[in-house]
Amino acid sequence: MKRVLLKLSGEALAGEKHTGFDEATVLGVARQVKTLVDDGIQVGIVIGGGNFWRGRTSENMDRVKADQIGMLATVMNCIYVSEIFRSVGLGTEVFTPFVCGGFAKLFTKDEALACLNRGKVAFFAGGTGHPYFSTDTTTTLRAIEIEADIILLAKAVDGVYDSDPKVNPEAVKYDEISIAEVIDKRLAVMDLTASIMCMENHMPMLVFGLEGGDSIVNAARGKSAGTKITV
Ligand code: UDP
Repeated sequence: MKRVLLKLSGEALAGEKHTGFDEATVLGVARQVKTLVDDGIQVGIVIGGGNFWRGRTSENMDRVKADQIGMLATVMNCIYVSEIFRSVGLGTEVFTPFVCGGFAKLFTKDEALACLNRGKVAFFAGGTGHPYFSTDTTTTLRAIEIEADIILLAKAVDGVYDSDPKVNPEAVKYDEISIAEVIDKRLAVMDLTASIMCMENHMPMLVFGLEGGDSIVNAARGKSAGTKITV
């Protein structure tokens, strides 16, 4: 793998606290990404916003406004994580799809590739910039745009199962499964829009558990026990 798009959920940043940031957890991610960059792998990152806010959190509020808050939550997450990454010696740039003043750079494919080619980590904050989308769709869109080799999907569970392992102790984990089957069986990997984008644009994925000190490094080195999603 030469170029990867790593997706972290917002909750992953919160660790045991479930909300906000847990510095030790993010430092662990930063050190692993440093190993990848030192190995010559280019890393783009999308982070969810669930540790602060989701558009669907509010039942009474206008969905467009609620989603805008969600997108801004992902900007806060990227600024935070980018700073922790810098503390371990990584170069970083935060890109947004809308103007954010001096906080971030406006995303363009060329600027993002220039950032990656300089060995810096590119953060894709602010989602797609549109409501009714998600950070899953942002992940597939940016991965396709930057021509990533694979999406590394870090999750709380260690792969894709035929049913929810938290509910069904008999659930069976897939080592490999096609994106078409994920869509047919409505397996909870990414939302449907994002999954279909991956299928149409031949973007493979690796789903793995974030837990453990080397999970991201192992995923990028093809040594993960997670689930490979083929296209
Ligand atoms: N969001 C959006 N458009 C996008 C990406 C995100 O409106 O292109 C909003 C949406 O409200 C979503 C929130 O941002 O609920 C946080 O993103 P997400 O729920 O995907 O984060 P995660 O669940 O992965 O933490």
